[in-house]
Amino acid sequence: MSENWPYPPEHRVAELFAAAKRVQEQAYAPYSHFLVGAAILSSSGRIHVGCNVENAAYPVGTCAEAGAIAAMCAAGDRDIAVLVTICDSVDVGTCCGGCRQRVREFAQPSTPIYACGPDGVRATFTMESLLPTSFGPENLSGFVS
Ligand SMILES: [Zn+2]
Repeated sequence: MSENWPYPPEHRVAELFAAAKRVQEQAYAPYSHFLVGAAILSSSGRIHVGCNVENAAYPVGTCAEAGAIAAMCAAGDRDIAVLVTICDSVDVGTCCGGCRQRVREFAQPSTPIYACGPDGVRATFTMESLLPTSFGPENLSGFVS
């Protein structure tokens, strides 16, 4: 993907940031007013986006990452090469615990995850650093057919 694998070229990060920022504006968050956007780059080169969607029955709401993963699967892609998230929190806003596991399903330990604010990238992580010693599909090897 780039010379400094697993990190993508800067222009791709900028493209993902722009996509995440655009979809953040579409977030449905009438209760928390906390708008989140997510953009996934798959190895196909395609970008998939999602935003958080709240619900009057609060637990039914979904995170931006979940929406982006659903869009990725609907488009036929099955891998997360890069993930960019954006929110307007004062501090660095990272994926929630549930989304770390959701992302883990389609990511590699080295998959870069960029946590952004309105001003751009605030912090960069890898999948492994956000969810160390995680449980993934390979753990089910031999148990499922
Ligand atoms: Zn989440």
